[in-house]
Amino acid sequence: MSDTKPGSGRVAEMTWPEIEAALEETRTLLVPVGSTEQHGRHMPLGVDAYMPEAIGARVIARSSALLAPPVWYGVSPHHTFKPGTFTVSTETFQRYLFDICASASEWGIENVLLLNGHYLAQDPELEVVVRRLRSERDVRAFHVPLVNVFADVAEEVRTGEVSFHASEFETSIMLALFPELVHMDRAESVDPPAESLPLTDYDALGENEVGWSLTARDMGELTPAGNIGDPTVATAEKGEALVESAVSDICLLVDELAE
Ligand SMILES: [Zn+2]
Repeated sequence: MSDTKPGSGRVAEMTWPEIEAALEETRTLLVPVGSTEQHGRHMPLGVDAYMPEAIGARVIARSSALLAPPVWYGVSPHHTFKPGTFTVSTETFQRYLFDICASASEWGIENVLLLNGHYLAQDPELEVVVRRLRSERDVRAFHVPLVNVFADVAEEVRTGEVSFHASEFETSIMLALFPELVHMDRAESVDPPAESLPLTDYDALGENEVGWSLTARDMGELTPAGNIGDPTVATAEKGEALVESAVSDICLLVDELAE
């Protein structure tokens, strides 16, 4: 626990002299990466950015790492069947993220953790950005999908059969972090197709052994409400356990990078 650090640790709230002083303590930057996309009838469009930003805030409360402003727009072409969703192309997204992180390396950041709140869908782009940052800018970059850093605890706390999009896990996390933004009275369970194809699974922790994707038309046919899975079993207690799992795992990496 560092209580002597200059400024809050949130880059957007700090002055440049505070950043300069903070760099005496750390060379690690957390970049929350989300999307603005539909999350069913019961949750707001900003879920995928709210989650990694709040998780990053807990990490910087326990370490000297810095927290960048979140990236609000991601790769969400499969969600444009509902209003309020934005998407950028895979090329735009990669270039934008690369430039954000590379520019931080100009003023002393050596380690970047991309905290990805958008389940699975923009993983490929983030992996490419990580590789380019390492090979072209010598930045130690990491793709940190939230779903991976809470997966073990998610297996333990889950009670629902299916949690894919805007369902048990995300709704629980939002109930823990931003309960005022969740409308449980509007939450409804949406079953995925009775049978997935071999090696695929409509679940965030599923046996997805092959890469696959959905279009907006597919999603529109799958789910009139927008979510896939059962958000009605979400609780703030489950969410708190998921958040803490993610925070403690990310802190392990941050601490190791500080050595
Ligand atoms: Zn989401």
